[in-house]
Amino acid sequence: MLEESTGKVAIIGAGFVGTSTAFALIFSGVVGEIVLVDINKAKAEGEALDLSHAATLIRPVKIRAGEPRDCAGSRVIIFTAGANQRPGETRLDLVHRNAAIVREALPEILEHCPQAVILMVTNPVDVLTYVAWKVSGLPPSRVLGSGTVLDSARFRHLLSLKLGIDPRNIHGYVIGEHGDTEVLLFSLTNIAGIGLDEFPLPETLQDRDLFKVEISHQVREAAYEIIRRKGYTSYGVALALTRITEAILHNEKRVLTVSSVIKDLYGLQEEVAVSLPCIIGREGRLGVLPLPLAPGERLALQHSADTLRRVIEELKL
Ligand code: NAD
Repeated sequence: MLEESTGKVAIIGAGFVGTSTAFALIFSGVVGEIVLVDINKAKAEGEALDLSHAATLIRPVKIRAGEPRDCAGSRVIIFTAGANQRPGETRLDLVHRNAAIVREALPEILEHCPQAVILMVTNPVDVLTYVAWKVSGLPPSRVLGSGTVLDSARFRHLLSLKLGIDPRNIHGYVIGEHGDTEVLLFSLTNIAGIGLDEFPLPETLQDRDLFKVEISHQVREAAYEIIRRKGYTSYGVALALTRITEAILHNEKRVLTVSSVIKDLYGLQEEVAVSLPCIIGREGRLGVLPLPLAPGERLALQHSADTLRRVIEELKL
């Protein structure tokens, strides 16, 4: 017998990312019901059945394939529908195909759950977060993108490997575009309260500047490396989405580098969707933290925002 749902989540797109996210959400214990919507209905039905059987072995979560009307009552819409990168493609290369999918599919879903927080995943995620915001007519605080939550995790993972410290003791953020122009905030990174620049590096890593260049390169290249080998990425983003969804459903007020539409923050004067450290709770973005960036980081963020802005302008929304 299924218990009353703790939270209902709609996942649009039952591909690698959508289904891995459903799988991760089952483990999280924060969702009571998941609806999978995909233009390939048979795929959504097959995935929902398989996931339902999996859930039986963990906890009661109601999972089904559905139409937009079945999304009624959802508190989060996780939007993963669309094409993914082929080897060699950048995220920005996908923009026209995927913007058309967002414009076509999102309004009908939203009609049935107007109170939901939208969580965009489809790439290029920042540009599509902007498109979703325009299409939905919702306040910017209710339209989020997974942004650089995953990149921040990759950053901490690499620092953890190189420094031999548990990533839970490493605080470091990546902001800007989820993509090639993202900005790693070395100046604000600390390990158990010690700034990275003061932290004693292992003997093999004595050149701090080179160390930073290598880490930046590896974080930016992480998705390309995975796609070259397995064709897509799924587990990292699935857990990043689970983390964001938990923060919304539990009103956690957790700081996460999601993407959202901003203007006149961090010196960015033009409206753009970009990742910044945001406080996330029931209504979505509750605030944006004003991090004291180093001058170089501020310039890099401006460059990242300008890059995204140019793509947004191309779409002529
Ligand atoms: P996939 O091809 O496995 O799945 C996409 C699914 O969307 C397919 O099942 C397809 O039938 C469905 N779809 C297409 N148009 C639709 C529509 N109009 N309505 C409903 N469903 C529709 O792709 P994937 O690997 O799951 O990736 C999905 C997206 O997520 C891609 O754009 C990818 O680049 C992006 N992604 C983002 C991140 C991130 O960090 N933001 C990470 C990984 C992947």
